Amino acid sequence: MAIDAPSSMLDWPFFEARHRTLATDIDAWCNEHLPAVSSLLHERDGVDEGCRQLVRMLGEAGWLRYGIGGRTYGGDGDEIDTRAVCLLRETLAEHAGLADFALAMQGLGSGAITLAGTQAQKQRYLPAVANGTAIAAFALTEPESGSDVAALALTAHDDGDAYVLDGEKTWISNGGIADFYIVFARTGEAPGARGISAFIVDADTPGLKIAERLEVIAPHPLARLEFAGARLSKRCMLGAPGEGFKLAMRTLDIFRTSVAAAALGFARRALAEALHRASTRHLFGQTLSDLPLTQTKLAQMALTIDSAALLVYRAAWMRDQGKRVTREAAMAKWHATEGAQQVIDAAVQIWGAQGVRSGTTVETLYREIRALRIYEGATEVQQLIVGRDLLAQHAAREGAVR
Ligand SMILES: Cc1cc2nc3c(=O)[nH]c(=O)nc-3n(C[C@H](O)[C@H](O)[C@H](O)COP(=O)(O)OP(=O)(O)OC[C@H]3O[C@@H](n4cnc5c(N)ncnc54)[C@H](O)[C@@H]3O)c2cc1C
Repeated sequence: MAIDAPSSMLDWPFFEARHRTLATDIDAWCNEHLPAVSSLLHERDGVDEGCRQLVRMLGEAGWLRYGIGGRTYGGDGDEIDTRAVCLLRETLAEHAGLADFALAMQGLGSGAITLAGTQAQKQRYLPAVANGTAIAAFALTEPESGSDVAALALTAHDDGDAYVLDGEKTWISNGGIADFYIVFARTGEAPGARGISAFIVDADTPGLKIAERLEVIAPHPLARLEFAGARLSKRCMLGAPGEGFKLAMRTLDIFRTSVAAAALGFARRALAEALHRASTRHLFGQTLSDLPLTQTKLAQMALTIDSAALLVYRAAWMRDQGKRVTREAAMAKWHATEGAQQVIDAAVQIWGAQGVRSGTTVETLYREIRALRIYEGATEVQQLIVGRDLLAQHAAREGAVR
């Protein structure tokens, strides 16, 4: 089925000519290349190989360059173009969730190197991430520290010429297939968030073990990692000691809006599927789409999608202008992921029993969307961010008036 291209959105003033070209090109690439690997895209057993192959394909085609900052290191530009990353993720998600995941993780897993790496670190890792020959992962979450990031407990002990890592990370995307992990560990310069540092850990580091592979409702590579006396050269520290928490938040700041863009892509696909089914399903002597209740449902889906798109590209545009986007990115992620869940649920309803049949597109989307409301800051965390930001700005205005 042809996917309804959001051509009118590309006319919005948030975009420049290069973004319009990029959106058209990635859509054409998906149509040409993803059908050939469709058997790999949804296989629970073949998810590792599917992901590796997608990373290779995306790298060869040049799409991974957009998640890297610095032309010298294989990036498309010197800064990460948030609108480009969002358009890529939206379009890939519309076609295949695993293809979006493969692209997103290369950016998230190497983002801290783009932001804080030394020249040598950038040279060693970023070109390989950009051309798809090295797979990246971002390891922040632990069994006892998810939303409460500052509570992380994995330690990095200073041992003369090395740091020694002990502890666990869990729910790590690309865990098991990554070539390196960006690991956030407690180095203890200060309590809480100010005592965390970041490290680049190669997957073959002695003492690092894939302790458990984790299966979730929408299959993709995911693992729990154990560190037992994993010894790292001091050159593996990323950024300054004690600056790891800030670096993790800066990385998430870039990619949070792109999670919203992926949700938008899933929602667009669900609407396209719903329109197709409603227009072709006959019942009560007419088509499903003739029924006013169906039209209302479709209208609500379109409203949710357009409002999410406006929030996503407002946040992406603002970030590309160098503006602070704490509130805007949080609003985009909150609204786009929650809205996509509702849109997809409505599409399942329109498809009736076929909508819950394993392997149908809307059933796949129903599983794909769920985790986006949890990772990179659960919805409740985004709500807190928005609320606190509003109150802080209100207090600043009041203070200025008094
Ligand atoms: C598919 C998937 C992929 C992931 N990939 C990665 C990865 O690559 N790297 C990585 O480091 N982590 C990854 N994660 C982990 C993810 O970031 C965490 O799951 C997330 O931060 C939430 O942490 P938690 O699961 O421990 O939930 P908890 O922190 O225990 O929170 C549980 C629930 O409490 C609610 N909540 C949280 N905070 C508040 C609050 N302040 N007020 C009220 N309610 C609240 C939310 O509903 C939340 O879902 C992934 C998770 C999933 C599901």
